[in-house]
Amino acid sequence: MATLHTLAFDNSYSRLPSGLYSRVEPAGFAHPHLVSFNPEAARLLDLEPECAHNPDFVAFFGGQKLLPGSAPLAMKYTGHQFGVYNPDLGDGRGLLLGEVVNAQGETWDLHLKGAGKTPYSRFGDGRAVLRSCIREYLGSEAMHHLGIPSTRALCIVGSDEPVLREKTERGAMLLRLADTHIRFGHFEWLFHSNQPELLKTLADFVITKHFPELADEHDRYTAFFREIVRRTARLMAFWQLVGFAHGVMNTDNFSITGATFDYGPFGFLDVYEPGFICNHSDYNGRYAWNQQPSVGLWNLNALAYALSGLIEKDALVAALQGYEGEFLGAYGTGLRQKLGLRTERPEDHQLAADFLELLARNNADYTRSFRALAHVGSAEGRSPLRDDFLDREAFDAWLRRYRERLHAEGSDDRERAAFMNSVNPKYILRNYMAQIAIDKAEDGDYGEIEKLRMLLTRPFDEQPENEAYAALPPDWGRHLEISCSS
Ligand code: AMP
Ligand code: MG
Repeated sequence: MATLHTLAFDNSYSRLPSGLYSRVEPAGFAHPHLVSFNPEAARLLDLEPECAHNPDFVAFFGGQKLLPGSAPLAMKYTGHQFGVYNPDLGDGRGLLLGEVVNAQGETWDLHLKGAGKTPYSRFGDGRAVLRSCIREYLGSEAMHHLGIPSTRALCIVGSDEPVLREKTERGAMLLRLADTHIRFGHFEWLFHSNQPELLKTLADFVITKHFPELADEHDRYTAFFREIVRRTARLMAFWQLVGFAHGVMNTDNFSITGATFDYGPFGFLDVYEPGFICNHSDYNGRYAWNQQPSVGLWNLNALAYALSGLIEKDALVAALQGYEGEFLGAYGTGLRQKLGLRTERPEDHQLAADFLELLARNNADYTRSFRALAHVGSAEGRSPLRDDFLDREAFDAWLRRYRERLHAEGSDDRERAAFMNSVNPKYILRNYMAQIAIDKAEDGDYGEIEKLRMLLTRPFDEQPENEAYAALPPDWGRHLEISCSS
């Protein structure tokens, strides 16, 4: 076990050519304090959980002191924001403190978000607000526990520093953990600024470090691109299956290893509304929930373009053509699992699509409806789920088909229910839940953050003491608008 003073840093990114980043030290808060600590994430670093009580903890993660062995830097990258190329991006308010290797040999990036200005801050103040740190902290941990690749979060450190957004808020810092902070936008930058040597260096670095199994392939760059296409397609399927909307799917927010990355105005579906736009600033719905799979492909196209100096055009096109099948395969499998089907039949796709359409037409809650489906027995009889549908006849008609389908594969109700409960979460991070934790935190009460963090570590388990968190959102919590400004 390591202490804060003996973390095993190996700062491989900082050994890359200096043109890829700028060395920047955090601008610490004058009076940092601990808002929340995640012992589970500490374990990833072999960091003993008692470290949070050490006064140095907030000094390190509030940017006042440098962790021994760290080598903070701001990464340069660019990217397409809402479809438009922006050459002026980079870590504008977050620093890669360094990379820690744990006893299993895994490397974790430590990235301090909100650590002050960098050469890439443009007009920004380099800060993050408490509200947005809480959302990322809870959102990323929730996704991880839903089984979806995601960055993680170690802690939030708060301050009394005023930060001006639409109103004056308090600055905070979030310590994000990720296998990498290299984004699609890193490659776009090197391509569009015509630095092919550096681009190749970075591609080799990514392959060696994150795709070592591909390093010896005869066309390693193509194999790498094929793999990121595969991972991104699967990630989009996972998002759709769990009803997650990212909100800002710019290419600078897409990780090169296919993890959910950069939590801003994200949201989980409450009612099943395919055109759901979680980002108040997304006027045209470019990143609406049902657009995500095609945006994933759009982003891969931007990446393909950036890699065109390393990979033949035909190979890039062929890899991109694999996206749809990969997505549909993962999504189809996931939907069958959500319906509790063990076998695969041609009519399953229609059965699932019709259930989703029923949800949409009846304004039914996405998460609760799938969860309740586990308790629909295969025998004739009324289902409590029926009451959630205005058009009960349509529900009954669908239920008849579903029951026939279950009979056809000899489905066992108990087994099926147990399986469905392991894939259809009971607890998700609904926007209103995060908002309550934020409102309390802004009044100095951090208890709800910890409560939700714990709740969301077991999203598939029945937690009778937490039943209220599985209820429909209250009226005030249904259409909360979350903006980009954070
Ligand atoms: P995001 O919307 O958080 O993905 O940020 C997009 C870009 O703007 C990134 O290059 C960020 O580093 C930068 N950025 C966002 N907020 C700030 C801020 N308050 N100060 C400086 N840069 C920022
Ligand atoms: Mg970003």
